[in-house]
Amino acid sequence: MTSYVWSVDDAGTGGGAMVESLRRATAFFSSRGLGSTWFTVPKGGGKPMTGEWKDALIAAREAGHDLQLHGLTHADCYEFGPPAWPATSILPTLQSDFDERREELMPRYTVDNLRDRIEEGMEIFALDLGVEPSVFRAPCGAISKAMFTALRDVGIGYHTCMYISGSGYAHLPQNGEEIAQEWVDDIPHRPFRWYEDVIEVPILNEYTWRGSGARSDEFIELARRDLDRISGQSPVVVLLMHTHGIADDYEHTFRLVDTVTEHVGRQPGASFATMGELAASGALAAAANVDGPDILAV
Ligand SMILES: [Zn+2]
Repeated sequence: MTSYVWSVDDAGTGGGAMVESLRRATAFFSSRGLGSTWFTVPKGGGKPMTGEWKDALIAAREAGHDLQLHGLTHADCYEFGPPAWPATSILPTLQSDFDERREELMPRYTVDNLRDRIEEGMEIFALDLGVEPSVFRAPCGAISKAMFTALRDVGIGYHTCMYISGSGYAHLPQNGEEIAQEWVDDIPHRPFRWYEDVIEVPILNEYTWRGSGARSDEFIELARRDLDRISGQSPVVVLLMHTHGIADDYEHTFRLVDTVTEHVGRQPGASFATMGELAASGALAAAANVDGPDILAV
């Protein structure tokens, strides 16, 4: 019995084309009978969410899609911790920029500061969207031990940002452009208990980053191979997309969704669910029967 999750980042932020991405993608998922989970930025760039976003997100929620918390402002890639791979492979200047601004940025990572940010995000979710989030995803995968304490303090017991594979970004010039299956071995490939007993639900991979549509066949083949390999290793599999990646090539995105759905459909007992559903049912807690490694420096 394996549950698969479609998760999409960066809802709530960006202009009309990104709202359109949410609308078109949720309509597509719904047409296939699939739920999806949208990691939503409550106060993108430090500004209040637009009416257009609120309406689209409420409509998505009412259509059965799941809204979860993706930072507070996402104004940069260091909101909840220092830069992390694979974001550093997408934006090679992240680490050097952070190093230059280290004295300015490091004081962010206190429990009080990060708890305030999460609480402000939760208030916006409650007031604007009528949603109580149960899962958090830090922007750009940038995390810290203080973030886990803050999550525990506010009662959010699930986090999801660690990648099993970052080969979905291999097509970028700085990454060599060769698309091959490559998995990390420093974290479990299934949900695990991590800092402060928060459950980390790892991301399998992303196949729809900007530019991937030009190599659609290769990314679809990579997805098939990743799915075959993960099926025996984890009862919960999270797939990642971004609003801007979807909008970059709708045809590729929808082709990928259909291919994955068909592939998963051939596995006995496999089904799709949202993060919120798996948190509420206890499936994430039940899946997390291993502890994660102590790998965070901060
Ligand atoms: Zn993001």
